[in-house]
Amino acid sequence: MKAISLKKLAQVIGGRFITGSPAKIVHSLNFGNPKQLKPHQVYFYTRKCRYEKQLKAIQRIRPTAVVIPAHISARHIPAGTSIIRVKDAYEAFWKAGLWNWKQCPARVIAITGSAGKSTTTEMVASILKYRWPMVKTQGNLNTYSFLPSYLTRLTGREKLLLLEMGMKSLNNIRKQCQVVYPEIGAVTNVGEAHAGSLGGLNLIVKAKQELVDGIRKRGILLLNADDARSRRLRTNRFQGKIFTFGIHHPAHVQAKNIRYSSKGMRFDAILHGRSFPVFIPIFGTHNVYNALTAIGISWAFGANIAEMQKGLATFRAPKMRLQFIRCRSGRILINDAWNANPTAMKAGLNVLKNVSGSRPSIAVLGDMLELGSYSHYAHVQVGRYVSKLGISQLITLGQRGKIIAQAAVSSGMNRKKVFACQNYQQALYYLAKTPKHAMIYFKASRSLHFERLVKKLRNS
Ligand code: ATP
Repeated sequence: MKAISLKKLAQVIGGRFITGSPAKIVHSLNFGNPKQLKPHQVYFYTRKCRYEKQLKAIQRIRPTAVVIPAHISARHIPAGTSIIRVKDAYEAFWKAGLWNWKQCPARVIAITGSAGKSTTTEMVASILKYRWPMVKTQGNLNTYSFLPSYLTRLTGREKLLLLEMGMKSLNNIRKQCQVVYPEIGAVTNVGEAHAGSLGGLNLIVKAKQELVDGIRKRGILLLNADDARSRRLRTNRFQGKIFTFGIHHPAHVQAKNIRYSSKGMRFDAILHGRSFPVFIPIFGTHNVYNALTAIGISWAFGANIAEMQKGLATFRAPKMRLQFIRCRSGRILINDAWNANPTAMKAGLNVLKNVSGSRPSIAVLGDMLELGSYSHYAHVQVGRYVSKLGISQLITLGQRGKIIAQAAVSSGMNRKKVFACQNYQQALYYLAKTPKHAMIYFKASRSLHFERLVKKLRNS
């Protein structure tokens, strides 16, 4: 945050600044039970903490912003502690964020989409970081509630606020845009992720529409030319420039000659008619799409081709996205267990098939959640796809995982190669029996924690 006196900060967030001897602070706050506070920190004291979960996450990012809920007290407050007492910590954060945003504005890039937001964001950051100091979204803390934490991190030195915009409900992206008015916005794709929690595909399109409508006048919008659902986004009222990226349909940013190399993907990017070679150290055609989105964004922002090539070649994928692990046993594990939806699962299975070569290819798949009424159909589709690809062995976990297994068998996969497990132990039992030179791919929704299976097997 821009340097600001605590008194001023208290004014900005509508709080009361309390300083002085520990005794005075205790007296002012009416603390009861003892609790140690760290010296020289600014504490926000509040009796009302509506969003405790979000605040905890905000604290992880900005540890100096400590919220003291009313029931925690401090008898031993170290000298030098300052406290700003606020009515509502969440509101206080918002006020601090908005004030700081006015003092330290930056150019804004916003990335949304059903899949590929984090990967694309990391790719863009890797390209732009050399010339444009930035604040960017951390992990998947990408909804409206987290925006103040990014706004307060701006110090005036940063030239870019790079935001991944996620949402769990309608209006979330709209509200984020109303604060920061992105100059460049990209929709990676419009898929089934969160279809269940949001209430269907139409509502997903509506949610992504909020970014299209939220970009500032004369801004730039990037859309996926190959994604039929992205074409459902209304752009007739959009007042800026629209650029497209794609592989199969004509687009402003295109990839040709895509091939797997030993460490990732190579392709020729064609940007407004100019062709240049690109390497990304991650597998999968879906990641070529993410790279194309990143190229389009960076170009619109002002990066040159050399910066794009270097940034993409040195980009590091966020964890649990197609992470390759070589076990002592000789097996190769592909940890893609960050999250799952049908498109992503099929994309990952393609990678397994393409990179396994002469090794047996084994897929360990689990439930895909939040798909609502689409769920059964989606799991059946994945099962059929496993069979069609000719994956050597399938191990599933969970109730919906079982649907994948059944669909694979009924569409022709040898039932002796399919194991529908009820728990981790069973899955580990079958995993331990897999050939030592197998390549094993792991994917399921986040809450199934497939990384635990990976960890066990890795150490075996
Ligand atoms: P989340 O909202 O779950 O954090 P995200 O939109 O940020 O997801 P990433 O974290 O980049 O997306 O990738 C998550 C998973 O989605 C990857 O492991 C991969 O399986 C899949 N994925 C990534 N990019 C694409 C894409 N362009 N098309 C389809 N699937 C993709």
